[in-house]
Amino acid sequence: MRRPAALSLILCASLLPAQTPVAPLTGFTTEGATREYSLEQKFDASLNRRNLDEWLKEFSAKPHHLGSPAGKVIAEKIASMLKSWGYETEIETFYPLFPTPKTRLLEMISPEHFTAKLSEPAVEGDRTSGHVEGGLPTYNAYSIDGDVTGQLVYVNYGVPADYEKLAEMGVDIKGKIVIARYMGSWRGIKPKVAAEHGAIGCIIYSDPRDDGYYQGDIYPKGGYRPPDSAQRGSVSDMPTYPGDPLTPGVGATKDAPRPAYDPASLKANKSITLTRIPVLPISYGDAEPLLRNLGGPVAPPNWRGSLPITYHVGPGTATVHLKLEFDWKLTPAYDVIARLRGSERPDEWILRGNHHDGWVFGAMDPLSGTVTTLEEARGLAELVKQGWRPKRTLVYCIWDGEEPMLLGSTEWAEQHEAELRQHGAVYINTDATGRGFLDVGGSHTLQQFVLQSARDVADPVHKISVLGRREAAESAEAGKKADFELEALGSGSDFTPFLQHVGVATLNFGFGGEEQYGVYHSNYDSYDHYVRFEDPDLVYCLTNVQFGGRLMLRLANADVLPFKFDALSKTIAGYASEVKKLTDDMRRQTEFKNQMIEDGSLKAAADAREPFVVPEAKAPVPFLNFAPLENAVAKLQASADGFSKVDPLKLDDAHAAAFDAILMHAERALLLDDGLPRRPWYRHMLYAPGFYTGYGVKTLPGIREAIEQRNWSEAETQIGHVATALNQLSNEIDRATAAAK
Ligand SMILES: [Zn+2]
Repeated sequence: MRRPAALSLILCASLLPAQTPVAPLTGFTTEGATREYSLEQKFDASLNRRNLDEWLKEFSAKPHHLGSPAGKVIAEKIASMLKSWGYETEIETFYPLFPTPKTRLLEMISPEHFTAKLSEPAVEGDRTSGHVEGGLPTYNAYSIDGDVTGQLVYVNYGVPADYEKLAEMGVDIKGKIVIARYMGSWRGIKPKVAAEHGAIGCIIYSDPRDDGYYQGDIYPKGGYRPPDSAQRGSVSDMPTYPGDPLTPGVGATKDAPRPAYDPASLKANKSITLTRIPVLPISYGDAEPLLRNLGGPVAPPNWRGSLPITYHVGPGTATVHLKLEFDWKLTPAYDVIARLRGSERPDEWILRGNHHDGWVFGAMDPLSGTVTTLEEARGLAELVKQGWRPKRTLVYCIWDGEEPMLLGSTEWAEQHEAELRQHGAVYINTDATGRGFLDVGGSHTLQQFVLQSARDVADPVHKISVLGRREAAESAEAGKKADFELEALGSGSDFTPFLQHVGVATLNFGFGGEEQYGVYHSNYDSYDHYVRFEDPDLVYCLTNVQFGGRLMLRLANADVLPFKFDALSKTIAGYASEVKKLTDDMRRQTEFKNQMIEDGSLKAAADAREPFVVPEAKAPVPFLNFAPLENAVAKLQASADGFSKVDPLKLDDAHAAAFDAILMHAERALLLDDGLPRRPWYRHMLYAPGFYTGYGVKTLPGIREAIEQRNWSEAETQIGHVATALNQLSNEIDRATAAAK
């Protein structure tokens, strides 16, 4: 099954001047790689930074959230651009539930009266901040309606460990309204955990320590959050399922069956992803009077922020009234879907996604990413005009409704799940992007592929590769040589349905780390802010286009899909040792703490002047049977070794296509039939957003979270499920190896 030397390849190679050795590209022969590099040079030559600037300015001129008139105009404009470049383009519309605020009231009724402003004033030098008509005010989407009054308690980041500390301090949360600061977890975790502890309301504020004046000068002098700015954002229970709360698992088409969504029905319906208690985000200007009036113990040192007050935990005399009402309606979400049909393997889809909706003007989030993705699509279309055709089908997806809860992407992936399972080879996502370092995560089958692409793109300032620059930064931080590794993906952008629900191999990337980005999800995420503090001259945006273009071109053209299993098997072996060590560490720590509780030394360590409630002893941690997991990891290692020894590039086209088909479905083997416990929408056995961390990834989530929750029988069941899925993957890899012989 040796590939006949194609005439076109020989001609192409012979046109090149003196043969310089080309760096190898996974999935390409040497001749193929040579041709690929010259195509990429043509791609780079067609790019135009002025387009980025023009589109960024145009799309960020008006508020363009889901359901806004400007959002629809942008979707239509993007569709007409893609169509004019030669893509088969359509707008696919879904109808998810999307609440917008009718009433937002937060007041302190004792010890003094204070009404929160809840508004972001115009800022000098920021041309759009004075033109917010039609924009969404500061609120958290998918908070339930509510009218509550109660004593206020400060809960730090509001994660489970903070409530353990509060219990030790003798602070009871039942019937209270909590105030948590942003960061430390995804925002939706805060009201979820507060409600689990009996709170009746939740306020989330941006402490200046985290993205305000502690970090640097505030806007407009610097890029950090000014006193009246608040962070909008979704608080639905994303770790249970993202997308439309009313239609989990199916596309939210106009006629999709859905439960009633009037306010009373929504309150009564406990099986959907709305919060259980009302939630409102506020600025540090609004938070300061509330926090200043808290009584009770002084907050632990690592709970204190940067306001000029002594941070107390409460409760005390500070009593607040929170009233929220929303307009609950189905809102059209306009997904722009544009295809470039593959010439040889049209049934293998390389999908590329980004969103177009913002919370307000959204210059950084998402438009920096949207315009780079569009310029990339235009660059590929230029190559088509010069005679190139992708071997595989390319699908550009510019999503609507990402901000409320990954609505456009999730509904589309659910609606097209059967086709995606059949044809989905790779999904590549970009959200916001700025200046700095390449930030990339995803399926470890693609690690070598990504490394090669990062090797071949230059940092625009430092004139070394973006790979070299990232490794330099990591090495400087670690104090030793650091090698490139893909990050594992949790959630927080549109890749989630593709990776974690459908099992399509996924990448998510952008540039960042050198921005002054203290205006996330506020009125001030504007064009003026972007070009002063995020990526002046848009040079890293252009680098982003070069990197994304290479990923797409290589996946479009490779003779066989560039998947490898060595990094995957090594990474999984690492996760397996981590969960085993986690259990051993917990066993030792539990024994030690129980001993301290029993002999009174825990109490003796506490300050007798402060309240201290000795926690109850915990049941000892048993020894779990990790053998099925360890055996599956060993089998996977052997399969990956076998795969690395065969050369699929010698296959003829028909056999290469059959080989591709096995690789394309390999990621699907990592899906658990029943999904994760209590959240079946999430099916990937390797990567999930943490149930109590949100965006933060939990690797081997079924096993790891069962251990963290001390649910030992579930941990053992999950070890069995994961071992089965890993063995399934090993069988697929063996099949691919056999097909390449
Ligand atoms: Zn975004």
